[in-house]
Amino acid sequence: MGLENRVALVTGASQGIGRAIALTLARAGARVAVNFYPGQDEKAAQVVKEIEKLGCSGFAVAADIRDKSAVEEMVNTVQKHFGRLEILVNNAGITRDSLLLRMKEQDWDDVLATNLTGIFHCTRAALKFMLKQRWGRIINIASVIGVTGNAGQANYGAAKAGVIGFTKCVAREVASRGITANAIAPGYIETEMTEKISLETKEELLRRIPVGRIGKPDDVAAVVIFLASPGADYITGQTIHVDGGMVI
Ligand code: NAP
Repeated sequence: MGLENRVALVTGASQGIGRAIALTLARAGARVAVNFYPGQDEKAAQVVKEIEKLGCSGFAVAADIRDKSAVEEMVNTVQKHFGRLEILVNNAGITRDSLLLRMKEQDWDDVLATNLTGIFHCTRAALKFMLKQRWGRIINIASVIGVTGNAGQANYGAAKAGVIGFTKCVAREVASRGITANAIAPGYIETEMTEKISLETKEELLRRIPVGRIGKPDDVAAVVIFLASPGADYITGQTIHVDGGMVI
């Protein structure tokens, strides 16, 4: 895929989609920094072990992406450790669902701070290096909810729609410097995040997926690899749905 020795940073990579992205990037030959939420040291160390088992290079780096200085420190650490930073995958995200009238202000703030402001912090910090290198790939994990909306997810939908708009603006700003910015909008993917959905809702969601199955973290990871590869050099500002046809 032309990713040999490229340096990637994946946020929220200690589990779920982020973990699959980190491992798939490593399999494609990239060196991978595995960001994790402070306290998830063991899980992140396990991901690094799996990367090393593949004969690849990985290391774990803690940072709460809501915290601007922690993010700057993380990006500087990656730069020092691997000598550069070329691929940023903004994956970390949370849900705090409830109907709007019942939504606590804290739940609104937390989701926006993690899912949108976190991406702003990470992208700004990484771009400083990418602009000097005149090469970079920014890949933001949005969601179909940012496109279609969903009752009970006003905070999440607003943040993910924000991610899509943010991606388009950044793509226009940095295209002339050899940097692309794209988003991926997953549908319903089986991870810890979707574990809490009731069986009834899961069945209803499944009925809305033409492909007839729930997505896997690897379905999303495959598209990240493509967007990071030379084959995607001429694609920027786009949102690619990985949803089994949920939104057509
Ligand atoms: P997940 O299993 O909950 O993983 C999210 C990861 O992000 C966790 O490791 C989490 O750490 C980390 N994280 C949360 N807040 C963070 C912060 N402030 N700083 C650093 N890391 C943080 O969820 P997932 O399903 O893999 O989701 C990954 C991304 O895909 C998210 O952006 C999500 O919105 C998006 N997505 C998922 C689906 C789906 O169906 N699963 C669909 C569409 C979009 P902790 O575990 O310690 O909190």
